[in-house]
Amino acid sequence: MRRTRTDSRTARADHVMAQVEAARDEIVAFTVELIRIPTVNPPGDFYRECADLIGRRLAEAGLAVEYVEAEGRPEHTAGHPRVNVVGRGNLGGRGPRLHLNGHFDVVPPGEGWTVDPFEGLVRDGRILGRGASDMKSGIAAAVFAVEAIRRAGIELEGAVDISATVDEESGGFAGVAHLCHEGIISARDVDYAIIPEPFGPDRVCVGHRGVYWFDIVAHGHVAHGSMSHLGRSAIADMGALLETFRRRLGPALATRRSELPVVPAPSRLPSLNVNAITGGQAGADTQSPCVADRCVATFDRRFIPEEPFEEVRAEIAALVGAVEREDPGRRFTIEDRMVVHPVAAPPESPLVRALSSAVREVRGRDAELVASPGTYDQKHFARIAGVEHCVAYGPGPLEEAHQPDESCSVDDLVSCTQVLALAALELAGPGQAPVGGSRLQNG
Ligand SMILES: [Zn+2]
Repeated sequence: MRRTRTDSRTARADHVMAQVEAARDEIVAFTVELIRIPTVNPPGDFYRECADLIGRRLAEAGLAVEYVEAEGRPEHTAGHPRVNVVGRGNLGGRGPRLHLNGHFDVVPPGEGWTVDPFEGLVRDGRILGRGASDMKSGIAAAVFAVEAIRRAGIELEGAVDISATVDEESGGFAGVAHLCHEGIISARDVDYAIIPEPFGPDRVCVGHRGVYWFDIVAHGHVAHGSMSHLGRSAIADMGALLETFRRRLGPALATRRSELPVVPAPSRLPSLNVNAITGGQAGADTQSPCVADRCVATFDRRFIPEEPFEEVRAEIAALVGAVEREDPGRRFTIEDRMVVHPVAAPPESPLVRALSSAVREVRGRDAELVASPGTYDQKHFARIAGVEHCVAYGPGPLEEAHQPDESCSVDDLVSCTQVLALAALELAGPGQAPVGGSRLQNG
């Protein structure tokens, strides 16, 4: 299995894997410390405390630490400062620079927990708590991957940076996007990026689908409810539109299937979901009898790389136009909320190869290449910073993200830390040519 590796490479890999194994209790303890800081988003609690904790750890691992507040962002307030932390590795020679990024915000705990979501209980080989899977264990894995290389006394030819950032759960604008806009994460010097989001120890996630969020407003005409024929119900018009989407768009989407290996498999097809709908006097305790003159529906259209965004949008607009023409009094307007384009690392990326061979080494099986049905911070690396060699790899399980009793297996956490360390050695370790992954394309 290791015939293709030189002996010194094998020795280095074995040494680093042993250092990770020896740090098992420290990795768990650090994950627990992170879970105990309830960095709930919204609203974005305790970010400074969490950034400080991670920053101290990064300094101990030998990185040059900088705290970056999201100055100028409206969500960066005195009560809820958006504080990111970046640790830069010392560039040993002229080798590539690998950036490991994790978000430390977590979603609110919600209902249904049988344990305290912020106690960080360790039981039966699992760490439990909000963020155990998504993704405080991933941050611990990144930190200890770098620490293990340091403890093994290996000098890198390149460098490994670690950033821990805020607000991924709400779009990442004050987090990774801010660091990319500020040029702190840039394809000028970052060749490869790995985000340890919870896809599990055997899966490398190469990218994600696109999102088109938009509102459609139906405009009616108000009238007395007892003489509804004098008005025009915006809710009835919205009903006609929803029916047309169901009859005509649904079957069309069901014929499209992405080549991107999106998991779970049904998400390889594009989809349309109605996130919300309000109309008339919604939510009012006391009602007056009126025909609804306004109805708003929020739509969540997930699209695949095979669907050009302009066609996705034009298809919606054409159906809306068709429903209007069925009845001359009908009027709708479409208001865009957000567009995220699909991203995917190049299939032949050295980053994918390095992670895949590390998975084989540590786990004894081939890595499964997958893509995510939803988006995460990879979009900012690719779209703003121009780092196209970016993937997600981290402990999971994905299925427990955002769930009650979220947990992470300690064995999986240790395995993922080993895989990240080996991939870092492969990409930026001794004997690496001074290549530039993204740098070649981005000057
Ligand atoms: Zn996450």
